[in-house]
Amino acid sequence: MNTDLLVIGGGIAGITAAVEAAEVGKEVVLVEQEHWLGGRVVQMHKYFPKLCPPMCGLEINFRRIRQNPKIKVLTGAKPTKIDGDAGNFTATISIEPRYVNENCTACGDCEKACTVEVSDRFNFGVSKVKAIHLVNELAYPYRYFIEKDAVADPAMKDIADSCEYKAIDLEMQPETVEVKAKSIIWATGWQPYDAAKIDNLGYGTVPNVITNMNMERMASAGGPSRGKITRPSDDGEITRAAFVQCAGSRDEKHLPYCSTVCCMASLKQSRYIREQYPDAEIHIFFIDARTPGRWEDFLQEVEEDEKTIIHRGKVAKIVEADGGMITLTAENTLTGSLEQVTVDLAVLATGMVPNAAADKPPVSLTQDEFGFIENNGGSTVIATGVAVAPKDVAASNEEATGAVIQALQMMVEK
Ligand SMILES: Cc1cc2nc3c(=O)[nH]c(=O)nc-3n(C[C@H](O)[C@H](O)[C@H](O)COP(=O)(O)OP(=O)(O)OC[C@H]3O[C@@H](n4cnc5c(N)ncnc54)[C@H](O)[C@@H]3O)c2cc1C
Repeated sequence: MNTDLLVIGGGIAGITAAVEAAEVGKEVVLVEQEHWLGGRVVQMHKYFPKLCPPMCGLEINFRRIRQNPKIKVLTGAKPTKIDGDAGNFTATISIEPRYVNENCTACGDCEKACTVEVSDRFNFGVSKVKAIHLVNELAYPYRYFIEKDAVADPAMKDIADSCEYKAIDLEMQPETVEVKAKSIIWATGWQPYDAAKIDNLGYGTVPNVITNMNMERMASAGGPSRGKITRPSDDGEITRAAFVQCAGSRDEKHLPYCSTVCCMASLKQSRYIREQYPDAEIHIFFIDARTPGRWEDFLQEVEEDEKTIIHRGKVAKIVEADGGMITLTAENTLTGSLEQVTVDLAVLATGMVPNAAADKPPVSLTQDEFGFIENNGGSTVIATGVAVAPKDVAASNEEATGAVIQALQMMVEK
């Protein structure tokens, strides 16, 4: 496969890079490790600051990809080796089988008939999902896939046999392709910090403590509770909820850096609760609210909500209380007093960890101590999006567009 631009990572940054380059006439190969495009944005319920559904923007991008023959998308795919330099890269890409071929019409009959269930990693394992499924109704590619661990289950054979389009192929094998590219853009994004490591905040041990990404899935119509925000322990209604900012962030023991979007994410999520519970009390614990520029208006709107109480203090402890409730303790840094609040649900605002921290790129790239990629390290592979530093979607898009300009320059120079 020969191409002008190879993009690694099919989140919003990688998608933006791919469509921008293709729309100025360049051939692009877009490589995504999952069986769907969109990255973390696909898991969000709404976008701040406008509170619109992220799938609207993604759908436009998916259409741009679908309509542009210059973009070739490889899903279930990862680079395992990259040689060469700008103008002359050679990348080896491994492709995991999807076990569903191009005959799939996404009719959904296989999913209805499937009796095998697996942990739903799209919903962070909170629920189960059929072994053959789509991540959501707007998934791109719009074609079913089977979770690898379920393929050997004897019941899958009946599902395969019953597909009238002969779209299920349990014998599908991994493939390797070689891509020759003039430029490479690296957009491998992030994953949530593991909240279970913050032992004073009770994630995984105290019921009804969830993370901000759990909240995105819970509020989403395609999520484990079909969009209803409840206490996970008993599906009870929410009378009081709390948001715990900097859960592990700006903390030498966990993530010493600020993930920049968590304050806005929690303010946004406080609106999710307000939409469903007009009378609920909402407590937000900040060290300080990081809402620069136009985001300040959003903070002010939230502050105007009479039943939203903003506390200046870092939560030190979360423990179980009576009746499925939980108690948060924090020192108010303005008054010096110890505050305790008892709520139904606590949401930990955990930060973003670059995927490249644990999953090292198979090419020489300079990374800082946390795994973020530094573009000034001498490599001609251009990194963008949260792979470089925490940022929101608008900033990821802008940066990805800039990355394309650099990639085009490299093509001209060589
Ligand atoms: C709780 C929370 C709420 C948020 N809400 C908002 C919001 O409302 N509005 C907003 O603007 N921003 C929001 N953000 C920020 C937003 O999620 C990021 O800006 C966005 O995800 C960045 O996109 P990205 O493409 O850089 O990374 P990602 O979304 O992580 O995409 C990276 C992609 O690369 C793939 N990948 C990784 N490694 C490889 C590999 N080796 N090979 C192939 N593919 C690979 C991944 O599977 C993924 O699909 C929120 C963040 C958090 C934590």
